[in-house]
Amino acid sequence: MDKIKNLVVGCGFSGAVFARRIAEEWNEKVVLIDSKNHIAGNCYDYLDRNGICVHKYGAHIFHTSIKPVWDFVSRFTRWYPCQHKVKGLVDGQIVPIPFNLNSLHQLFPKSMSNEIEQCLIGKFGFNVKVPILELRKAGNKNLEFLAEYIYQKIFLEYTLKQWGVKPEEIDPSVTGRVPVYISRDDRYFQDKYQGIPLEGYTRLIEKILDHQNIEVCLSTPFSKNMDYDRLFYTGPIDEFFDFELGELPYRSIHLDFVEFPYEKFQDAAVINYPCNYDWTRIGEYKYFLNDKSDRTVVSYEYPTAFERGKNERYYPIMKAENQVLYDR
Ligand SMILES: Cc1cc2nc3c(=O)[nH]c(=O)nc-3n(C[C@H](O)[C@H](O)[C@H](O)COP(=O)(O)OP(=O)(O)OC[C@H]3O[C@@H](n4cnc5c(N)ncnc54)[C@H](O)[C@@H]3O)c2cc1C
Repeated sequence: MDKIKNLVVGCGFSGAVFARRIAEEWNEKVVLIDSKNHIAGNCYDYLDRNGICVHKYGAHIFHTSIKPVWDFVSRFTRWYPCQHKVKGLVDGQIVPIPFNLNSLHQLFPKSMSNEIEQCLIGKFGFNVKVPILELRKAGNKNLEFLAEYIYQKIFLEYTLKQWGVKPEEIDPSVTGRVPVYISRDDRYFQDKYQGIPLEGYTRLIEKILDHQNIEVCLSTPFSKNMDYDRLFYTGPIDEFFDFELGELPYRSIHLDFVEFPYEKFQDAAVINYPCNYDWTRIGEYKYFLNDKSDRTVVSYEYPTAFERGKNERYYPIMKAENQVLYDR
């Protein structure tokens, strides 16, 4: 390769946006490389033989409250306006996740759920998200009962499966991500802008990269011998430094894709299984773009340990010591 003016490593959302902005705003040439044989990184999707858009690395919903982000991405796609709702199997009932007032009323007898709802609203207010670990310390009999119930039925085993450790052992920002929502809003995200690119993520990234100043080289891992003026690296930062300071830990996922010879497998795009089975969730892909087919495809998600060279990094393990290592 000749000397490269701007080298972007990684063809996911980050790399594609870097490349486009360099090409457009600086009017400079940019070479984008990816070790994978496809663009779009983690968001890569494809049409399967039934015309269903499948997300290879697990279900992805685009969501943001930042208008300039939405406006930028919307230059390259139209949207299927999806308001993502997740359900979970709890005590034999399929209820909204994160746990909210609808989940409460579905799971408990009316007199009991009404009383708990009054306590929740009285203590925290309405339309408020309360992390489970905070609810546990509420100092009220009803709320402590609820906290214990949710902890046992939803958090404990799910966290053990997902992270391989108890909820207390991971950063509160992670458990806080799945709070108890004192609301009737069943949506997983409350962002102003949410959707699925009408022609899929891969097509969206393809359009971002469609610029005369951008050259894409797939199946091309980054090497320190490459000759460039500026580098934009969107891969794992510990790997970039040859693990000089240590390795940042991740969890991985094994996705088991299965096609069924009938129209519908489940009643929501994603159903979580906190206590039952070994998988954490099942995603059914035809829901995202309302794809029509008399067959359906789902993925069973099994969290596993990340092993370099054997599987993909999925979720960084958020712990104070890992953040310190990351900052270094
Ligand atoms: C299961 C799952 C579900 C998710 N769901 C959502 C969701 O619903 N909504 C949402 O907003 N976010 C979601 N995310 C997060 C989302 O996937 C990421 O935020 C986003 O894809 C990050 O884009 P990126 O370009 O930074 O990284 P990536 O998409 O990971 O792209 C990085 C690219 O760099 C390449 N690369 C790495 N190292 C090298 C190297 N040395 N040489 C060459 N190439 C290299 C990789 O092959 C990869 O293609 C989810 C993540 C996971 C794991």
